[in-house]
Amino acid sequence: MTTKPTRTPATDPDSPIEHDVAVVGGGASGLAAAVFVARYGLDTTVFDGGKAAITQCAHVENYLGFPGGISPNRFLDLGRAHATHEGVEVVDDRVTAVRPHENEGAFLVETAERECLAERVVVAAAYDETVLAPVAEALDESEDVEADADDLFVPTDDGRTAVDGLYVAGWMSDETAHQVGINAGHGSRVGLTLARDHMSERYWPAVGERYVDWVVHDGRYGGEGWDEHVDEWFDREMLPADHDLDSEAIAAAREDLKAEFLGRCLDEDERRQRDRAGQRELLEHVDDDLIREHVTELEGTDTTHAN
Ligand SMILES: Cc1cc2nc3c(=O)[nH]c(=O)nc-3n(C[C@H](O)[C@H](O)[C@H](O)COP(=O)(O)OP(=O)(O)OC[C@H]3O[C@@H](n4cnc5c(N)ncnc54)[C@H](O)[C@@H]3O)c2cc1C
Repeated sequence: MTTKPTRTPATDPDSPIEHDVAVVGGGASGLAAAVFVARYGLDTTVFDGGKAAITQCAHVENYLGFPGGISPNRFLDLGRAHATHEGVEVVDDRVTAVRPHENEGAFLVETAERECLAERVVVAAAYDETVLAPVAEALDESEDVEADADDLFVPTDDGRTAVDGLYVAGWMSDETAHQVGINAGHGSRVGLTLARDHMSERYWPAVGERYVDWVVHDGRYGGEGWDEHVDEWFDREMLPADHDLDSEAIAAAREDLKAEFLGRCLDEDERRQRDRAGQRELLEHVDDDLIREHVTELEGTDTTHAN
């Protein structure tokens, strides 16, 4: 995870709540995008309300990792728990509109209950394209953007749209692959893209494009010769083509990257602790009567062994 970028807090109590990123839609694609963005270190809020495609499915049987399938609501609860675990705020509120804000590059996300100002927005609202109507109108009127409103709904694979800072994920982005695993994967891709775009702005694109969300065994990074190896790699592949950054900025980027690599390492104790904590989180989503039934079965097995 990167160091959390600093933001200027709102000083006017009546001004909208500020977030780095607002995600519209708390289905598989929106929650997956939020997980990636929050793990990168951006302050992220998911707004969820309205019609969800997945709740029309009777039982999800093709999402990898659930051998007996899973009910849509349990699946969504797990997704929300995951996002919350990563620091995402999930708000049960339907977004009525996303509109460009007078602060250039920011968006106003409106619900019946509140307004939120976000630097970047991911729209993952499946059928609800109406939330994007104000952005589409502004785009139609704009002379700066060489695209029309229809292009908003035809994002690239990475979810970027014709408007900087606005991304579209999941079902809404792709008319051909209405499958939850594919749409969740797309949300992950969009979240990663947003993180990379942010990092490209903080440093420069060659650095941003290398961002990955990995956790590795202790010892993979660091140790004898590692610093020199990273310096060499950085100077060979990552320096900006025009070299117009002063050397302090380059040194800072290099050191930040090294710190980030080292921060991805888990020692064996921490790895075990996270494995156990992860299993306990899963148990929270299993019905109590099934856990009791399983314990009884285990006790029966133990007795058999004892005999
Ligand atoms: C009848 C049916 C059965 C299906 N069965 C399967 C299946 O068995 N297996 C499979 O792989 N796929 C199945 N699918 C497809 C699957 O449901 C979708 O591919 C997947 O759910 C899309 O994920 P998503 O996050 O993009 O959209 P969704 O799951 O629809 O999530 C969108 C979220 O956005 C929220 N939202 C919408 N508008 C707003 C708004 N204005 N403000 C805030 N939040 C908003 C919704 O409440 C919802 O939570 C089925 C779809 C249908 C319709």
